[in-house]
Parts: sequence; structure tokens; C-alpha cells
Amino acid sequence: MSPGISYFFGQLGKAFFALGSHASLLSLAAAFLIAVAFLTLRRYRKGRRIRIKALLRALFPRHVVTSKSSLADLGYFYFNIFLFGLVFGWALLSYEVVSHSVAQALTAAFGPRPPAALPAFVYRTAITILLFLAYELGYWLNHYLSHRIPFLWEFHKVHHSATVLTPLTNFRVHPVYMCIFLNILALFIGTANGFGNYIFGQAAHQYAVSENNIILVFFIYLYVHLQHTQLWISFTGWLGHLFMSPAHHQIHHSRNPAHFNKNLGSCLALWDWIFGTLYVPAAEPEKLEFGVEPDRPNAHTIRGELFAPFARAALLLKPLIDRRPQAGALPAPEQERA
Ligand SMILES: [Zn+2]
Ligand SMILES: [Zn+2]
Repeated sequence: MSPGISYFFGQLGKAFFALGSHASLLSLAAAFLIAVAFLTLRRYRKGRRIRIKALLRALFPRHVVTSKSSLADLGYFYFNIFLFGLVFGWALLSYEVVSHSVAQALTAAFGPRPPAALPAFVYRTAITILLFLAYELGYWLNHYLSHRIPFLWEFHKVHHSATVLTPLTNFRVHPVYMCIFLNILALFIGTANGFGNYIFGQAAHQYAVSENNIILVFFIYLYVHLQHTQLWISFTGWLGHLFMSPAHHQIHHSRNPAHFNKNLGSCLALWDWIFGTLYVPAAEPEKLEFGVEPDRPNAHTIRGELFAPFARAALLLKPLIDRRPQAGALPAPEQERA
């Protein structure tokens, strides 16, 4: 088989068949079953008849399936599965290097620690939780910066320009956003891992499925796919302060200014709660519209969603560059002017 074809099938296998992948078919099937159970229960509670046709209409609304926005999601899904690694893989800050440096720095500062006299499952569980919390914190910070810094927002806007939400919208992220995200993640997870290794006096490996943290994989199966749907599954009360339900993330995509810059976490609402960016959704569906600048020229095209962000971000940098004094126009030093 030619290297190109084997790369294609290799990426396809990793994306759809690795159990811990963000796009694994099994996790999509789990999301489908949860959605069916949710809709069935809702109709049953309202005393309505449960009909397959009505369920399918609610799961795959025609305006969502045939939307131009969904087509752009599909384009980005393809790009991120097959091309991203080739184009931007080199830009990664090494997680291992960060982890090793942190463990070394702690050893130099506080002296070496003996290996923990604990059963392996105790410190492996601890490191699994620690790395998951570090992932969520890194995700929150990157997302916060992407919303607050205009230059970064131009690249993140691609995700928010989706006018309908489907599980594929999860992959509608610009490569520049992805690149910064992966570097921040390497920094946060590497630091947490180095810290954990130092505390336990040995390399402690997290529990993982296809190299993905097992707690993260659990949430991918439970509700991450449903965050990008129109199904209002909301967690309220204390659950809504800890976990990012599908409704939480739909609020994040809302065009209502009251919802702007809220709910920036991935699986957890915890960091949003701590940093004051949490909006707990109501139990009953809120009327939402999605999509930033839906009428922008070239919305949902490769030109509009992949190349235009570079131009718009560059325009934001222009005033900064223009304000810099030109080499020939530097103010004379004080003594020369005197
Ligand atoms: Zn966002
Ligand atoms: Zn989203």
C-alpha cells in the first residue's frame, strides 16, 4: 500500500476505532442511545406517543442536516483528522520535556523523595484525577484567552460561526486555535505530571484508553458529543456548578449578549464556577440562536473559515506595527538634542 493510502486509513482507524478517540464510533453510538433515551423519556412524561418517525425528526432535524454550516463542520472534521497532524504537528511543546523539567526543578529545590509506599492503584488514581483537572484547567484558560484577546478571537470565531450544532461542530476549530491549545495543554499536563511524579517519588502513569485520560473518555461517552446538538439536556443546582451539560455549552454558543464569554470549560463547569464565568442553564429550554456574524461574506466556506481569520487577525496587529517608530525617525538621544 502506498504511504499516502496507509496514512489515510491509519488516521481513519485512529479517529473512529480507537476506543478513547474524540470521534470513536462507539462513543457516537453511546451519545445516540443517550439522546434516544432522553427524548423517549421526555415524550413519555408529557404523555405523548413514542413514534420512531418523531424521534428521528427530533434527532436529525432537516434544517440542521442540510445546513451549509454542517457542511463546513464536515470540512473541518476532514481537515483536523487528516491534515492537521501533517501541517502543524511540529509546533508541539513537548509534554515529556515539561514534565521532566518540573520534576527535576522540584528535586533540586526540595531534595529527592523516596518512592511512595502506597499500592500502585492509589497513586495511579491520584495522577489520573490530577491530569484530568490539569486538562480542564488548560482547556478553560486557552478558551478564555481565545474569547478575550481579539487576535485569538479571530481564530476561535470559526467555531462560533456555526449556525447549527452537530457533534461534528466539535471539530470546527481553526488550526491556529488548535496549535495554541495543544501547547497550553502540554504546559499544564506536563507540569501536573512532573509534580505528581515528584510527590510520589516515581513515574506514575495515569489510567488511559487509547492514550486518553480515562475520566476524559468517560465524559466523551457520556455527554461531550451532545454538547453540540440542539437537545436541551441541562444540569442545574450543584450538578450544574460542577459539570458542563449539553445545555451549558449551547449557552456558550448563544448570540444573546447575556451569554457571551460564559461556560468556557470542556467537561467540567468547576473552573468556570471558580473563575466567575459560569452560567447555569435553566431546567426548561431557553430560546437560543447560534452563530457569530451569520451573514458574513464567505461564511462556511474554506476561504471564509480557514484563510480569512489570518487576514482579519493581521489587520488587528497593523496598528501595533504602525505605532512603532521608523528606524529613520527615532527621537534623538537627550544629550544630542541638548
Ligand atoms: Zn468559545
Ligand atoms: Zn462549541
